[in-house]
Amino acid sequence: MTPTSGRRPRLAVWKFASCDGCQLTLLDCEDELLGITGRVEITHFLEASSAPGPGPYDLSLVEGSITTAADAQRILQIRAASRRLVTIGACATAGGVQALRNYADVAEFQAAVYAHPDYIETLATSTPISAHVPVDLELRGCPIDRGQLVEVITAYLADRTPDVPAHSVCFECKRRGTVCVTVAHGTPCLGPVTHAGCGALCPAYGRGCYGCFGPSYSTNFGSFIPLLRRDGMDTLDVVRVLSTFNTAAPEFEAAARKELTE
Ligand code: SF4
Ligand code: SF4
Repeated sequence: MTPTSGRRPRLAVWKFASCDGCQLTLLDCEDELLGITGRVEITHFLEASSAPGPGPYDLSLVEGSITTAADAQRILQIRAASRRLVTIGACATAGGVQALRNYADVAEFQAAVYAHPDYIETLATSTPISAHVPVDLELRGCPIDRGQLVEVITAYLADRTPDVPAHSVCFECKRRGTVCVTVAHGTPCLGPVTHAGCGALCPAYGRGCYGCFGPSYSTNFGSFIPLLRRDGMDTLDVVRVLSTFNTAAPEFEAAARKELTE
């Protein structure tokens, strides 16, 4: 992302409907952050600085989903001002927990939560950034993995393609030598259909993956859901585990809706 003018590349971080956890991951890059800030100008990052600078931006990192009409307009402006746009986290790539509204009556939710729901201006759905503008890369996870974030930033600084594999969490279990919790203990695990990136964290501590990185590049739910049932999950369990962090991920949503209609 070398700018032609000779200035340092400009990095911007934007927030939409989200909890801020993925933005925090950038601040958590303690060992790498000084090196990154030496190479880029962090122009807009309200979680770290209340003095935003002007665009255009060489790389925009976008956290959060689109849940209001105003945000649907704001993301168009950000896209227009950004050379590259990368979404960070389950909200930005797959609607997040807030996409549970996609299954329900949002007016009913508003009435249950707010004393004066008439003050709330919200869309009926929570949608990923890619439903509104072209996205150069989607980083998954709730929250994202620090190593993958550093890889994306350094790859773009070097004008190369980031190395972010889309295989399943099972590959990561094999790589770190973790005994499979499903095979060894009959523990339900979403690893076979979940995108790599966390280093198979949960199975390493003896528990099943619950899919926080969203779908991997290849998901065979026809074979996988019977495995979850064999290991004790009923229809509601399956729907819930597919509708937690990545509710609007097309592969997870289609599988969950199929379960509900069968
Ligand atoms: S523990 Fe889960 S992620 Fe690991 S190999 Fe088994 S099914 Fe795959
Ligand atoms: S193992 Fe699954 S649930 Fe656990 S951190 Fe990794 S992707 Fe998320």
